Amino acid sequence: MVERWKGKVIVMTRPVRVRFAPSPTGIPHVGNIRTAMSNWLFARHSGGKFILRIEDTDGARRVEGAVEAIMDSLSWLGLDWDEGPNVGGDYGPYVQSERLEMYRQAAARLVEQGDAYHCYCSPERLKEMREEQVSRKQPPGYDRLCRELTDKQCAEKESDGVKPVVRFKTPLEGRTTYNDVIFGEVTFEHGTLDDFVLLKSDGYPTYHLANVVDDHAMEISHVIRAEEWISSVPRHLLLYRALGLEPPEFVHHPMILGPDRAKLSKRHGDVSLLAFREKGYLSETMFNFLALIGWSLDDKTELLTRQELVDNFSLERIGKTGALFDHQKLDWMNGIYIRGLSQEDFTQRALPFLESGLPAEVKRPLSTEYIGQMLPLIQERAKTLAEVPDLVGFFFVDESDYEADSLIGKNMTAQSTIRALEVSEQRLEGLANFDTETLENLLRPLAEELELKTGQLFGTLRVATTGRTAAPPLFQTMTVLGKEVCLRRIKAALAKLDK
Ligand code: GLU
Repeated sequence: MVERWKGKVIVMTRPVRVRFAPSPTGIPHVGNIRTAMSNWLFARHSGGKFILRIEDTDGARRVEGAVEAIMDSLSWLGLDWDEGPNVGGDYGPYVQSERLEMYRQAAARLVEQGDAYHCYCSPERLKEMREEQVSRKQPPGYDRLCRELTDKQCAEKESDGVKPVVRFKTPLEGRTTYNDVIFGEVTFEHGTLDDFVLLKSDGYPTYHLANVVDDHAMEISHVIRAEEWISSVPRHLLLYRALGLEPPEFVHHPMILGPDRAKLSKRHGDVSLLAFREKGYLSETMFNFLALIGWSLDDKTELLTRQELVDNFSLERIGKTGALFDHQKLDWMNGIYIRGLSQEDFTQRALPFLESGLPAEVKRPLSTEYIGQMLPLIQERAKTLAEVPDLVGFFFVDESDYEADSLIGKNMTAQSTIRALEVSEQRLEGLANFDTETLENLLRPLAEELELKTGQLFGTLRVATTGRTAAPPLFQTMTVLGKEVCLRRIKAALAKLDK
């Protein structure tokens, strides 16, 4: 398989295997999911495998329910994993806390060959050391006190019952250079790195060790992850080298930015993917929208189906600079996807929002037949599913707290409004059929008879029957409301004007 990147031909001898490797520390941020998507799109585009691996070796940061939220987020967007928790695979287990033995073996091997060492420094000593470094304005980092301990000194510490950590023996000189698929050539001086911990005293690995061991063991071909991990690459490359392993390709994704161009964070509002689901964005919208943050087909095409994104995805079109999370664009796009749903699909998706969003006094379960009549009237206008209960609330409850004045149209008086409502009431009362056509045939000529513009009469009737100045088309709305409700509300409107 040959792939061409940035004019260079890279011959890939290994099949594409990519992974999303979240730590279960909370509900996934849209940025994490964006990274998962790039992995998934790349795997699907190139016929490779997409792997889910849970990096849960930091017990202190583990959050209950986070793994479920990760899987829920991926599943909602249809980012199915070929290997991972729940589905298994030949390279499992896919949860790091179930792979501890592999990390311990790797650490032991590194110690044995002289690339790592036991460090017995107490947390208190390390804290003091750090404080001193800060006060002297030195970069923080381990001072390598245990690096040259003899076997005898180590044995003494052990017999005192001190549990060591394992640290990597970072070369004191030289540099590491690698070619990032997005950022190009990146060089790190070894002098800027300290002797980082590989294995903690409780026998758990650090991120660096577990990540490298697993990416190798799972035969990962491309590490596609967020830009913030770029500073880990030199440590990882040193580990690959010490373990005699060939590193994967590295692809660092620029950050998602808020409107102030700072990294998108809670400060900017909701940032978890699942919050957008709760707010009534469709998964199709989120898929399309997130795929275009920091990646583009041609700098102008905004609407792309899942298949088009898979067909066209390429790592080389991932941008180098952070990309904006544009809420306005998201709303616009969601409106388009909502309008594109079949009526039935729209009803199904809106139903849970209606169940939870309509006032408590509305009888549950809701009648899908009744809902099916009103939803087509607002489908054009809804930007999110969460707006639907508000857009259709007046179908369920008499919203009578509007101002009496809003019944009186432009160039109308209280008198002419009362007359218009009274005559309408009489005529509507006499109707045998209460359908859109009949209503139109009655009300259009009625406006003329009352010497009103149609807009004046319809406006008054709209407020009287819905309690709102903006509502879906009048005749259809009245048809769905039905004769009885319309007459009751017109009476109530007249009572309001009388006061
Ligand atoms: N566990 C890391 C995270 O939470 C993985 C980073 C990586 O992909 O190497 O994002």
